Amino acid sequence: MLLTAALLAAGCGDRSPDPADTAAGPGENGSTDPSRPAHGPAHGPAPGGPHPSPPPYRRWGLSAPLAPAPSNPDRPPAPHASGPGPAPVVDHIPTRDKVVFLTYDDGAEKDPRFVDMVRELRLPVSIFLTDSVVGPGYGHFARLRAVGATVQNHTLDHTALRGLPYAGQRAEICGQQNKLRQRFGIRPTLFRPPYGAYDTTTLRAAADCGISAVVLWRASMRITGLRHTVGDRLRPGDIVLALPHPRLRSSGGTLTQGPDQLKGASLTQMTTRLLRRIQEQGLTVGRLEDYL
Ligand SMILES: [Zn+2]
Repeated sequence: MLLTAALLAAGCGDRSPDPADTAAGPGENGSTDPSRPAHGPAHGPAPGGPHPSPPPYRRWGLSAPLAPAPSNPDRPPAPHASGPGPAPVVDHIPTRDKVVFLTYDDGAEKDPRFVDMVRELRLPVSIFLTDSVVGPGYGHFARLRAVGATVQNHTLDHTALRGLPYAGQRAEICGQQNKLRQRFGIRPTLFRPPYGAYDTTTLRAAADCGISAVVLWRASMRITGLRHTVGDRLRPGDIVLALPHPRLRSSGGTLTQGPDQLKGASLTQMTTRLLRRIQEQGLTVGRLEDYL
């Protein structure tokens, strides 16, 4: 557990750790929670009278429903099918469809409301799981799968792979393939290296474990806002990494949100903010697996 704690303390998926980046901006700690769905008549607008419940997009803080992704995706030709050779690395999908892709890592934040959000908004999210972080929490991800999320590989132990020998990298990747097969009866095809750190050995080991693409990101959503690695706005095909926890901490084997700036913010709130940005830019959310 100590090893896990030390690894997690270094943050997840963060390719450029920057303490200033995690500082909460004004207004980010406010008590308002527009993404909080109203449950029950106590929140209704018309005391004493019956009223229809608001549509899901309103309950989750959006001003318009999310447009459905195209049913016939404009996807690039499949890369050479599972032959020998390293897995390709992708941080976006070349497509004319006005979609971006939402990806989450580790799943340390097992917020049951996120399951409701994914179900009610029909959000096609992809979740990259690390066995040692999920711990006994696989049931939460089974529920997420049941409402439409997909589950992919993020190593057994959240080890930084770059520079490790082939055997060690393969054990981290193939080991989690086996865990996910045991838990869910699936064989993931996508892999995200912890911290986004990889080398050519990673790509070879991933391919040998049955991975068809190594998935990075073009934009990351943090508590403090959206950060782009290319340009200054979302573009069609961008893969977005949601980082609800800039710095994870472990105490007594239980992951907790560490930084103060996380108070008042949650996975669902952050996702609502991200969805608003996506809608503002005329985009919607596609399922990554439909494009890879
Ligand atoms: Zn991670």
